[in-house]
Amino acid sequence: MFKKILVANRGEIALRVICACKELSIRSVAIYSEADRNSLPVRFADEAICIGPPQLAQSYLNIPAVISAAEIANVDAIHPGYGLLSENANFAEVCETCNIKFIGPPPEVTRLMGEKEKARAAMRKAGVPILPGSEGVLGSEGEALEWAQTVGFPVIIKASAGGGGRGMRIVRSKQELPALFHAAQSEAAAAFGNGDLYMEKYVERPRHIEFQILADQSGTVASLGERECSIQRRHQKLLEESPSTQMTPELRQQIGQVVCKTLSEIGYANAGTVEFLMDEDRRLYFIEMNTRIQVEHPVTEMVTEVDLVKSQILIAAGETLENVLPGPILPRGHAIECRINAEHPEKFTPSAGKITTFNPPGGTGVRVDTAAYAEGTIPPYYDSLIAKLVVRGKDRAEAISRMTRALEMFIVEGVYTTIPLHRRILADPEFRAGRTDTTFIERFLARSGNDKEKVPA
Ligand code: ADP
Repeated sequence: MFKKILVANRGEIALRVICACKELSIRSVAIYSEADRNSLPVRFADEAICIGPPQLAQSYLNIPAVISAAEIANVDAIHPGYGLLSENANFAEVCETCNIKFIGPPPEVTRLMGEKEKARAAMRKAGVPILPGSEGVLGSEGEALEWAQTVGFPVIIKASAGGGGRGMRIVRSKQELPALFHAAQSEAAAAFGNGDLYMEKYVERPRHIEFQILADQSGTVASLGERECSIQRRHQKLLEESPSTQMTPELRQQIGQVVCKTLSEIGYANAGTVEFLMDEDRRLYFIEMNTRIQVEHPVTEMVTEVDLVKSQILIAAGETLENVLPGPILPRGHAIECRINAEHPEKFTPSAGKITTFNPPGGTGVRVDTAAYAEGTIPPYYDSLIAKLVVRGKDRAEAISRMTRALEMFIVEGVYTTIPLHRRILADPEFRAGRTDTTFIERFLARSGNDKEKVPA
């Protein structure tokens, strides 16, 4: 087993990994930028090393700085969390060269899944349903038009290296294709240093449904069921739940089986998420795979009682799934997660600054993953997620009432947050009835307006 792990991340996920290390009696090393000197990961890790100034490129994304810290601290492994270097195959390779175990899949698998049109092709070959779309990268605007006519409008142009909803454009007609093609291309090039695009059929009002899997190094793969993440703003998830109101035991089993078989064939190892869209006829289509722990992993942890981060560490150390999992996965009850972002409720822009009051809720079935605290500062340089509020109830109705009271008892002052927005979503009749597709927020905001009453004069 590993003796010491470096946590190559910050904020709530760094703290989450440190918790797992403590429970496994593994020493943890936090790395931090100058802006995170007073952060909780620094306080709770066994060791902490400053790796540079606040800017991401000079600290958390600076591979030589991260590797130097790992060598100075003499760690056996690096846990990358999510975002940052977690899906960077070059970083995984550098770790390997330095004899440090990267807690993630083999670099070639990360690379395959990171090129989304290649991942699509691999999934299709293995028998996983995908949406009709282009084969390979779109070479030109003319080729994009040909494919759009083959697939039929509306289509969606997506970035091969995509993430966070960037480089994506919905195209409804031939006339608007050229401008949207070029806009997607420059956005992708700016965001990912790679302007490659591909195309898929656009599904109207889909649900986003994803399967959580765990795979060991000997090719055994288990499905831990699905999460529904349809409540999104600008293609970014806001609220997630498990199970999905639209899932049937048969469909869950069928998709779980094909996903596990495919991942075993491609040599996947680690936790991972296979994302699908569900159309109005409840058919599922693969869209992408994330080869890391996800922000919304606690939803699955709440219903399955499997610790996914500890599982990642044990698998990376060579344990088999048989030893990692307690037995057959039998999800219980219903879990919901609300992402609490520090952002202005009307403008949706990040709200950095000092937190003056911080009262996270507690009680039965409530979990808060956060690295925020009263008198702590939210730096302006990073992601705006400051906490994840997760609840479990015996069924969806109980989870909704538990989340409603937990949101009411979650007091954050000094910065704006998405708490008021979540309170209104939870009270919405459409949400309560489970009518949740990816266009929900658009309709909801048109219906209910923004959070005007919550913005102080
Ligand atoms: P990213 O990696 O940028 O997050 P994804 O491929 O995961 O991109 O898609 C993010 C979201 O964009 C989906 O959850 C969905 O809301 C929307 N989306 C993606 N592909 C389609 C599609 N073919 N039809 C309709 N919506 C889509």
